[in-house]
Amino acid sequence: MIKKTYLVSPGPVPIPEDALVEAARPIIHHRTDIFSGIFMEVAEGMKYVFGTKRDVFILASSGTGAMEAAVANLLSPGDEVITINGGKFGERWGEIARAWGLNVHEIVLEWGQPFTGEQLAEELKKYPKAKAVFATLSETSSGSVYDIKSFAQATAKTDAVLVVDAISGLGATPCPMDEWGVDVLVAGSQKALMIPPGLAYIALSEKAWKLTETSTLPKYYFDLKAYKKSLGKKTTPYTPAITLIIQQKKTLEFIKKIGLETLFEHHRILADATRSGVKAIGLELLSKIPGNIATAVKVPEGVDGAALVKTVQKKYGVYIAGGQSHYKGKLFRIAHLGYMGAFDIITALSAVEMALDEQGYKFEMGASVKAAMEVFRREWK
Ligand SMILES: *Cc1c(COP(=O)(O)O)cnc(C)c1O
Repeated sequence: MIKKTYLVSPGPVPIPEDALVEAARPIIHHRTDIFSGIFMEVAEGMKYVFGTKRDVFILASSGTGAMEAAVANLLSPGDEVITINGGKFGERWGEIARAWGLNVHEIVLEWGQPFTGEQLAEELKKYPKAKAVFATLSETSSGSVYDIKSFAQATAKTDAVLVVDAISGLGATPCPMDEWGVDVLVAGSQKALMIPPGLAYIALSEKAWKLTETSTLPKYYFDLKAYKKSLGKKTTPYTPAITLIIQQKKTLEFIKKIGLETLFEHHRILADATRSGVKAIGLELLSKIPGNIATAVKVPEGVDGAALVKTVQKKYGVYIAGGQSHYKGKLFRIAHLGYMGAFDIITALSAVEMALDEQGYKFEMGASVKAAMEVFRREWK
């Protein structure tokens, strides 16, 4: 057989051809006017995606680097912080904060359960000395999207800043930084921003920038003051990931041409088709607050989840994701993120159906694809 592969994972994601071919061109030097122009186009263009007038700093790291930068630049040893842990990535905030010697009040939620601004306000009352709240826009491990706007309303009434990991969500679901009052927004290149892994982005509100003035945690590579100074000179303090930045320029043009609102609607339709599809064959979503980035589906009784994902990936070449942590073997996740279209979803659903059938799960073959097709037939423009 020719084993063709299909990437339907929540990062990395497929990349538009225009951006892909940029990686094949000869490298240009970064201390040149040509590169500075491209660099500034990306730094400025990213403000549109972030919904901010503040500087957006570009780091050569995966998304977690910008998460760590947020912690190291804002805080000092022993500072109290609140982290919201509703999954693998919310848990990571706690791990980073503890690694940096902070005093962490961790709110541990069941995966996929909601958490509201009102509940956060209660926590802030309980911990009035908390300097920062660390939250996640799109919790990729559970397929949830949290109400960041309500979190920002809660932190705005206090001295605490709101730091949001929007690594998988930004560009796919709304999170306008300035309008909502998010203090620190973190993004990564390999999700809705549709280029390979390797770039991270971070922007700070004025309230957050003030904290950088008093922060005494050690920092060097991720010292954002150095990035700010360099941005004034249209560059980065250290060698930038030249090719990735050129690729990002290409997909930013693509994102701007389509427009953020249309992209949000695009992700919504793909997600609706996925949700309709899995429900049509009797499966259940994990999340009570499902977002439009990735759909986490519970593996039904009597089916071996690890084997299911393995069959879909290895036999059919369709790279959906499995469950993480305690949901390993209990979930599969179909992403609808980045440069994907209707037929990526149809492909993923049909591969899942075949793998379920191989394990003797009883359902009407083709029903999930049919349900997804009905959504696309109705909504695709
Ligand atoms: C992918 C992801 C990350 C991790 O990013 P890396 O690029 O792997 O460091 C963090 N948070 C969320 C919500 C993610 O989806």
